[in-house]
Amino acid sequence: MSTDSQIVVIVGGAVAGSEAVYQFTERGIRCIVVEQNDLSYGKIEDGLPKWHVKQRKKEMELIDARIGHELVDFVPNTQIGRNLAMEELLALGCSAVLMANGAWKDRPFPVKEIERYEGGEFYYQNPFVYWYNHNEQSSYTGEQIEVKDNVLVVGGGLASIDVVKILQVELVSQVLKGRGIEIGTIDLEHKGIPKTLEEFNLTWDDLELEGAYLLYRRNVRNMPLASFPPDATPERQQKIRDTRVKILKKAQDKYLFRFKGQTQPVGIIEEEGKLVGLRMIDNDVINNKAVSKDGTEHDVYGSMVISSIGSIPEPIEGIPMEWNTYDIKDQETGEVKGLHNVFGVGNAITGKGNIRVSRNHAREVAAYVADKRLPENGVDVGAVREKVYSLQEKAGYDGNYPAWVDANARD
Ligand SMILES: Cc1cc2nc3c(=O)[nH]c(=O)nc-3n(C[C@H](O)[C@H](O)[C@H](O)COP(=O)(O)OP(=O)(O)OC[C@H]3O[C@@H](n4cnc5c(N)ncnc54)[C@H](O)[C@@H]3O)c2cc1C
Repeated sequence: MSTDSQIVVIVGGAVAGSEAVYQFTERGIRCIVVEQNDLSYGKIEDGLPKWHVKQRKKEMELIDARIGHELVDFVPNTQIGRNLAMEELLALGCSAVLMANGAWKDRPFPVKEIERYEGGEFYYQNPFVYWYNHNEQSSYTGEQIEVKDNVLVVGGGLASIDVVKILQVELVSQVLKGRGIEIGTIDLEHKGIPKTLEEFNLTWDDLELEGAYLLYRRNVRNMPLASFPPDATPERQQKIRDTRVKILKKAQDKYLFRFKGQTQPVGIIEEEGKLVGLRMIDNDVINNKAVSKDGTEHDVYGSMVISSIGSIPEPIEGIPMEWNTYDIKDQETGEVKGLHNVFGVGNAITGKGNIRVSRNHAREVAAYVADKRLPENGVDVGAVREKVYSLQEKAGYDGNYPAWVDANARD
C-alpha cells in the first residue's frame, strides 16, 4: 500500500487530534485537520486553568509542531456540524475520518429549570473556565462574569476543584484590590491563600468572606480525584480512597473553600426573579452509591451556582449517538457504528478529562487505523486537496501555519 495515495481527515487538532496527526505523518501519511477555532489548542487553552503556565506552553508548542508538519493541511475556523456538515466532510473522499473533537457539552444539571438563569446566577463549568482563562486578554470580547462571595459549586471531580479554586483566587484578588493590594490570581494560586494573606499581615477572618461551597453527592472517599487502575486489589482501592481524602484536604487548606459531601440538588430557590440558592437533599452512601434520605430536604443559599458535573461530546448531525456519547463499536478502536471508516479519539470517547488518557487513546487508534484500516487502493489525494484549498480560502487561511499562529496568538 502506497502512503502517497492516502489522506486522513481529523476533526479537532488539540491533544488527541495532534497526536493522531503525529502517528500518520510519522508513517508518511497526509492529514487534513479541520478545527472550529483559529488555533487548535482545545482544552489546553480553554479548560486547563491558566495558572498551569509551563504545562500549557509545552502542550501548545507540541500541538503547533505537529499541526505545522509539511504533510498537514490545516483548516481553521470551520466547525463540523455548523460551517461544514458531517455529510460534506465524508464527501471529501478521505481514507478515514478521525473525530478528535473532545467533550464540550456540559452534562445537563439535574434540575432543568435552573437553565433559565444561565449567564446570570447560573453557569456551566465549560463557559465559566473559558471566561477565567481568556477574560484578561485584549482580544477577549465575550461576556464578563462577576465573581461574588458564597458561590455554590455542584460537582466532585478534579475540574470542580479547579472551579472552586478559580472562585477563591478571584474573590481574594478582588477583596485585596479593594484594600490597595494588587495580586493576580496566578500568584494567588501558586502561593495559596493563607500564605499570601500572611505576607500582608492578614488572615482569612479579616476578609469576612464565606468562600465558595463545593457540594458533592457521595463522600470524599468516592470523589473521582484519583482513579483506580484496572484490576486494582481491594487494598489498592483503599489506598486510592485515602489519597482522595488527602487531595481534598490539601486543596481546602490551600484555598479555604467549604465542602459538603452526601448531598445533591433537588430544586432551585428563586426570589424576585433571581436564583438565590438550591434545595438540597442529603444522601447515604451505600455500596459507593448515593441514596437520598427522605425528609432531609433543606435550602442552601448562594450568590451563584456553577455546575461542574462533567462534559460529554457535542451531538453532531450525522454521527449516531448512544445516550450521551457517540455510538461506537468499542473503546479500543473508537469506530463509529454505521459510518464507514470513522473513528473517535481522545476525550470525545474516553469520557475522562485527562491529557495523558486522551493522547494515549489517540495514539492507539491512529496507529490501528494507519496500519490496518486504510483502503487498499487508496483515494484521489489530489481531488481531496483541491476541495480542502477552497475550505482554507473560506476560512481566510493561506497555508502558512507559523504565520497564522503568530497572527492569532493571544497575549
Ligand atoms: C478545568 C479543567 C481542568 C483540567 N485539568 C487537567 C489536568 O490538570 N490534567 C489533565 O491531564 N487534564 C486536565 N484537564 C482535561 C484536559 O484538558 C482534557 O482532557 C484534554 O486536553 C482533552 O484533549 P482532547 O484533544 O481529547 O480534547 P479537546 O482539548 O477538547 O480538543 C478538541 C478539539 O476539537 C475542536 N472541535 C470541537 N468540536 C469541533 C467541531 N465540531 N468541528 C471542528 N473542531 C471541533 C476543539 O476546538 C478542540 O481544538 C482539565 C480540564 C478542565 C476543563
